[in-house]
Amino acid sequence: MSIFTDIQIKLCSEDKKKKKPPDEELVFGKTFTDHMFFMEYKDEKWSDPKIIPYQSFEMDPATAVFHYGQEIFEGMKAFRHPDDTIHLFRPYENAERFNLSADRMSMVKINKDLFVTAIKELIRVDNEWAPRAPGTTLYIRPTMIASEVALGVHPSLEYYFYIILAPVGPYFKEGFKPTKAYVANANVRAAPGGTGEAKTGGNYAATLHEARIAQSKGYPQVIWLDAVEKKYVEEASAMNIMFVINNEIYTPPLDGTILRGITRKSVLELATNLGYKIHEEQLDINKVVNEIETGECSEAFFVGTAASITPVSEILYKEKEYKINDGQIGKITQHLYDELTGIQFGKKHDRFNWMIKIK
Ligand SMILES: *Cc1c(COP(=O)(O)O)cnc(C)c1O
Repeated sequence: MSIFTDIQIKLCSEDKKKKKPPDEELVFGKTFTDHMFFMEYKDEKWSDPKIIPYQSFEMDPATAVFHYGQEIFEGMKAFRHPDDTIHLFRPYENAERFNLSADRMSMVKINKDLFVTAIKELIRVDNEWAPRAPGTTLYIRPTMIASEVALGVHPSLEYYFYIILAPVGPYFKEGFKPTKAYVANANVRAAPGGTGEAKTGGNYAATLHEARIAQSKGYPQVIWLDAVEKKYVEEASAMNIMFVINNEIYTPPLDGTILRGITRKSVLELATNLGYKIHEEQLDINKVVNEIETGECSEAFFVGTAASITPVSEILYKEKEYKINDGQIGKITQHLYDELTGIQFGKKHDRFNWMIKIK
């Protein structure tokens, strides 16, 4: 069955096309391209996949997503290579995770080939929006929302699936520079049996309260601890975390409360390939800060699509500051960053076949 060989394309008229900001002025998530992918689930099936001019939705105030939060999304990037071709990074991993999120939130699945084909077709249409300046990318946001108009808590019978594209500059204005992180002590992000593993909107809303406390103290990022003992490191609000301890790489295991990061998975594969020893195990924050003090823990970094690899220079835990590697970017962090971004931007040989060419 081929439900998707004919994605209808309705192009935006020339006079409605937006003005593209210069690549150098791009920030994260403020500019969107001229088109979007859209498809609706109704009467127990997805139908009418189409690429249409980027547009607003008009929605009934009783639409399910506004009340009960059935919403999931993905975050991916397309990279322009030196020969001007555009490539996706492991998009089938995102398609698979999208369906895991859908399942957890009692939403409907999407054919993985359709998911990837829709992204490719949309980027073909809006290819001129893929920026060229160093470090810039085309960010991709596939999203599903419950669109049934009805109050009463139940899985929605109708959904919208759409994809929007945003040309973006580096996630942090300062580029590849260390950031500081505050260890949460008031709230938790995800509890065992909860929705921590799903990329669903509510998980992010739940982080904002503690993030505001962290920011008021000068820490842009929050490191979350487990909900049971409030002792084991989990991840940041939208990134996974890794530590270098005695020159080996440590990251918390995928135990259901942290997001299954594709950057996390890729960095672990890359690190193994480069000869580093990796450990996926529970990390007691008290032990970690101790090892930072003794110098055994010499590096920490966040990993995620939006900010790729971001070094952590300092951690605030229980009102005490722990400076890592004198605030400098560590050797292993730099090595992994150069390798990963080298492959993504087509400057290093893609020995894992991670990149998929669009155009
Ligand atoms: C998206 C996300 C990540 C990173 O996942 P990637 O696939 O690497 O982008 C990590 N943690 C959370 C909570 C996330 O939402």
